[in-house]
Amino acid sequence: MFKAVLVEKDEAGYRAGVTELDEAALPEGDVTVRVAYSTLNYKDGLAITGKGPVVRKFPMVPGIDLAGRVEASSHADISVGDAVVLNGWGVGEGHWGGLAQLARLKGEWLVPLPAAFTPRQAMAIGTAGYTAMLCVMALERHGVTPAHGEVLVTGASGGVGSVAVALLAKLGYTVVASTGRPQEAEYLTTLGAAEIIDRAQLAAPGKLLAKERWAGAVDTVGSHTLANVCASMKYRGTVAACGLAQGMDFPSSVAPFILRGVTLAGVDSVMAPRAERLEAWRRLAQELDAAKLELMTHEIGLGEVVDTAAALLEGRVRGRVVVDVNR
Ligand code: NDP
Repeated sequence: MFKAVLVEKDEAGYRAGVTELDEAALPEGDVTVRVAYSTLNYKDGLAITGKGPVVRKFPMVPGIDLAGRVEASSHADISVGDAVVLNGWGVGEGHWGGLAQLARLKGEWLVPLPAAFTPRQAMAIGTAGYTAMLCVMALERHGVTPAHGEVLVTGASGGVGSVAVALLAKLGYTVVASTGRPQEAEYLTTLGAAEIIDRAQLAAPGKLLAKERWAGAVDTVGSHTLANVCASMKYRGTVAACGLAQGMDFPSSVAPFILRGVTLAGVDSVMAPRAERLEAWRRLAQELDAAKLELMTHEIGLGEVVDTAAALLEGRVRGRVVVDVNR
């Protein structure tokens, strides 16, 4: 038997709670992992509360991330005892996930735990941090350098935002952090933000084109915020868009793209190819300051997951949440 968060949906409604499950109930897979830590991302919040259509099969063990040790394997490249990390691939959505003491998965989904990180640190990073790195890599790929000018991070106090601020600052960019939480200004400055702006400046419907300000941007918010960010990009700037915390809509126009050569670079972590994942983790090991990671992280046990998921969706959680699945 093992402990897990279980999401159920039936006549009694949508609900999530910690329960004991039989190992025999685990889904198919060629690798079984003894989970040490998992995390809570925005998507986990949606899955656990039912506020978004994330879970595709019930009952579901949520958790799009996990770090642990291989307990059994019939995969040629993965051995018992290997330390591994999993992010995405639909785990926690259509296949039982990481908010459990045990997981059975496809070996091809796993990447080795980077030597630079403990399992807890890898989960403090989690999908949010790995996505922040994918966003930074997208800006780099499109030629945004620190010399081009200020870069904006929206949803800056959240998980993706916090890691993006820390990474961009470390790489020498002048980072402007957009947040709805002025009380987190000191936190964001410590992570490396040069300036804090109120997210209200970006949240309402705006002009098709605004004054050019940003050389690059990481947007975790979507909707009017993303439209306003695109409208205020400098000539040939790039926006890495990964999130929808304000909304899934994109009420923009082609003006920034056809008149200013702006690039909108979409970032998806779930199905990102393995080579890109390995590169993102290699870069995280190189660029992410361990003290800043610790500053943005707080730890909970499995029993606190459901309440914390609700708090996260309400914007009451700062930075990253790491889950010790064994307490
Ligand atoms: P968090 O909840 O940790 O962060 C989201 C942040 O967005 C909040 O902290 C808040 O920041 C801001 N925010 C929340 N609500 C609103 C609103 N109504 N209007 C404007 N800003 C708002 O989530 P994560 O960091 O885990 O994820 C961020 C987004 O990125 C999510 O939408 C998530 O689904 C997406 N995502 C996408 C991935 C991909 O592969 N494309 C992978 C990972 C995440 P503040 O208080 O500072 O304003």
